[in-house]
Amino acid sequence: MNLSYSKYNTYLSCPRKYKNQVDRVEIPEPESKYFALYGIFIQNFFQDYVNILLPKKYPVTDEFIRNYLKKLWDNVLAKNYINWTDPWVNQNAEQIFEEVYANVLENIKAFPLFSECHSEVGIYIKLKKSGDEINGRLDFIRSCKDNTVEILDGKSTKHIDRVDVEQLYFYALLYSLKHGKLPDKLGFLFFRYCTINYIDFSPEILLKFKNKLALTKETIKKDKEFKPTVKLSKVCNYCPYKLICEEYNVKKDSNIEKRSKIKENCGGKIILL
Ligand code: SF4
Repeated sequence: MNLSYSKYNTYLSCPRKYKNQVDRVEIPEPESKYFALYGIFIQNFFQDYVNILLPKKYPVTDEFIRNYLKKLWDNVLAKNYINWTDPWVNQNAEQIFEEVYANVLENIKAFPLFSECHSEVGIYIKLKKSGDEINGRLDFIRSCKDNTVEILDGKSTKHIDRVDVEQLYFYALLYSLKHGKLPDKLGFLFFRYCTINYIDFSPEILLKFKNKLALTKETIKKDKEFKPTVKLSKVCNYCPYKLICEEYNVKKDSNIEKRSKIKENCGGKIILL
């Protein structure tokens, strides 16, 4: 089996969704990538920035960056389906472009450390014992002048307080398997806020996470049912399989029925529970 952090996390949040993804079950209707657009765009740029533009000493003026982004943007839009008529769409393509352009300039100004970074996009490690593979991408590996190494994960979220530290633990393990040593610092770089938040970790914490990962891997291998974990929240609402997920639809219908009964019982007035 091969496991990325995203697959590991998907299995923990809903085994059925994981199974659908692994089996490449056809999605009933095309999935709009509207919410992912900002992140895909800015990450693509910074990957090129640290791996190509800085090492090859391109003249990274504001104008150069705008033109470079324009080419990237056409590519990102061509590769990702967006339904611009969805009711939650509140920015058009031009507004997203301008926001990313402004944030790119702000981050470059705020973080001279980019000149010490590179990105490793496709890391695939075969585990000796199990023969399984773990894989992932490291957005920024910073090799500092004092010979320490930092791993920074670029985040496009608006919620700076909601961080998933296990993601960085996973990247630290991936780095150590590839380079034979642990990184010295781990952090999230929030593009929208030009902020880096470092997290606390120790070899013991990473060992604990490694055991959890191994256990999850074995659970996945033994799983015969891949039961869905229905949550009438973002997890299911944004799941591309919700239209073909029986359990989700049963729960949603019973919820609608319950709500209409409450409405009937209170004479049509809306009562906030
Ligand atoms: S709709 Fe919800 S329960 Fe069904 S597969 Fe998706 S995440 Fe799982």
